Amino acid sequence: MTSPTDRLAVVGAGPAGLAAALTAADHNIAVTLIDSAPQPGGQFYRQPAAALGARRPQALHHAWRTWARLRDRLDAHVAAGRIRHLPGRHVWFVEHLDRGFILRTLTGDDEPEVFAADAVLLATGAYEKVLPFPGWTLPGVVTAGGAQAVLKGGLVLPGRMAVVAGSGPLLLPVATGLAAAGARLAALIEAADPRAYGRHARTFAAHPGKLAEAAGYAGRLLRHRVPVLTRHTVVAAHGTDRVEAVTVAALDADGRARPGTERRIACDTLAVGHGLLPHTDLAGALGCRTDPARVVVDAQQRTDVPGVWAAGEAAGVGGAALALAEGEIAGRSVVAHLTGERPRIRSTAANSRTALRKFAAALDAVHTPPAHWAEQVADDTLVCRCEDVTAGAVRHAVTELGAADLRTVKLLTRAGMGWCQGRVCGPGVAGVAGCPPETVRRPFARPVPLSVLARTPSPTEGRQE
Ligand SMILES: Cc1cc2nc3c(=O)[nH]c(=O)nc-3n(C[C@H](O)[C@H](O)[C@H](O)COP(=O)(O)OP(=O)(O)OC[C@H]3O[C@@H](n4cnc5c(N)ncnc54)[C@H](O)[C@@H]3O)c2cc1C
Repeated sequence: MTSPTDRLAVVGAGPAGLAAALTAADHNIAVTLIDSAPQPGGQFYRQPAAALGARRPQALHHAWRTWARLRDRLDAHVAAGRIRHLPGRHVWFVEHLDRGFILRTLTGDDEPEVFAADAVLLATGAYEKVLPFPGWTLPGVVTAGGAQAVLKGGLVLPGRMAVVAGSGPLLLPVATGLAAAGARLAALIEAADPRAYGRHARTFAAHPGKLAEAAGYAGRLLRHRVPVLTRHTVVAAHGTDRVEAVTVAALDADGRARPGTERRIACDTLAVGHGLLPHTDLAGALGCRTDPARVVVDAQQRTDVPGVWAAGEAAGVGGAALALAEGEIAGRSVVAHLTGERPRIRSTAANSRTALRKFAAALDAVHTPPAHWAEQVADDTLVCRCEDVTAGAVRHAVTELGAADLRTVKLLTRAGMGWCQGRVCGPGVAGVAGCPPETVRRPFARPVPLSVLARTPSPTEGRQE
C-alpha cells in the first residue's frame, strides 16, 4: 500500500513544513509535501499569484534571503525526486492504520485524492482570532492577516484609507505593509499597554534581532506619519454599504472602554486582529493530545500518537523563526524514526526553540484582547455569521434558557453550526456567553461534499487500497 516515495507526508508548506521536509529530504527520506496554498511559503512567506508576474515580490517581505534559500533547496529536492510538492490540496482527514497513515485531500475543484505515508508531520499553522463588535460584518472590515494576504498574494490594497486595530505583533507588518504600498493609515490602534513590555524586559533584551525589527517598524510608522494609539480599542465600525468610520476609545486599567474618550476616525478599511489560534483539527481527529488550543509535542516535536509529529504554529504560536527551528527538529526526529538511527537534534535549533518560545510567551502576555471586550458587543450584533446568530440570542440562551456551556449555547442558538464550524465565531461566542472556550474535536479539517464522503471507503476498506 505505501509506495517508496511516501515515507513522510508533511501537511503544510509554511516555514515549519518546509524546514521539516527539507531536513528529511537532506537525509534521503522521500517526502510528500501537501499544502492548500497554490505556492509554498505559508503565511509568512506568502507569494504573489504567479500570473501577476510580480517583479519585486521581496518588497513586501522581510527575511527574504531565508526564503530564497528555502525555495532553492525545495526546488533542488523536487528536481531530484526526493520531495513531491503537491500544492492546492487541502488535507481534510488523516486515518491511522495498523501500518502507516492515509491522507485524504480535496483539490480546489473538490476532486478527492488519497495519499499513503509511514509518518505524518502536521505543520498546518494558525488562523486569526476574531472578536465581534458592532459593525464588524460591514464590507471593508477585514482581519489583519486578511488585509496582508490580499496585499502579498494579490498585490492589491484592501482600501485607500485604513485603520489597523486589535492587539499583537502582526499589526506592525500589516500597518507598515499597507502604508508602504500606498494606503493612507488613519491610525494604528493597539489595545496593549507598552509599559507591559517592561515586565519582560530581560526576555526581550535577549533578542536584539527582534528589537531591531521592532525599531524598523517604529521608524516606518513614523516615516508614514501613522498615528499610533496604545491602550485603545475599536468599539464600533460605522457605514451603510461599507465601513466609513470607526469609533475608538481609551481603555481603563481593567480593560473597559473609558466613557467620554470615544473619537471617530474616517476610513474605508478596518483591518483588525486579536492574535492567532493554532490549527489543530487534523491532530484532534488523529487523537493527538491538545492543550487546549495547540498540539502537545515532546522535545523532538512528537505528538503522543506514534508516527505523528507537529511543528510550527500548530504546536503553539511563536513566529516564523520558531517554526523553522521546530520544523528542523521534527524533520531530524522523523529521520531517526524511519532509519532506526539515533536522533541528531542540533543544539543550535534546540536552544533557538527554547529562547523563541520564551519570547513568544512574553509577547502573548503583553498582547491580550481588552478584558471586557464582550461588554461592547450590542445585542443586535451578529456573533455567528454563518448562522446569523446575534449576541442577544446568545445572552438569552445563557440568562433565560440556562445554558452554562458552549455546547448548550450551540444547541440552543445554532452558533458554531455553520460553514466555519466555530473556527471563526468560537472565541466571540464564548466571550459573549461568558463561558470558557472549549476544545472542539472536529472530525474533518474542512467541510467535505457529501458526494465525496459517499465515495470514501471506510478505514477498513482503506486497508485494501
Ligand atoms: C494570516 C496570518 C498572517 C501572518 N503574517 C505574519 C507577518 O506578517 N509577520 C510575521 O512575523 N508573522 C506572521 N504570521 C505568523 C506567521 O505566519 C508564522 O509565524 C509562520 O508563518 C508560521 O509558520 P508555520 O509553518 O507554522 O505555518 P504557516 O506559515 O501558517 O503555514 C501553514 C501552511 O499549512 C497549510 N495548511 C493548513 N491546514 C492545511 C490542511 N488541512 N491541508 C493542507 N494544507 C494546510 C496552509 O495553507 C499554510 O500554507 C501570520 C500568521 C497568519 C495566520
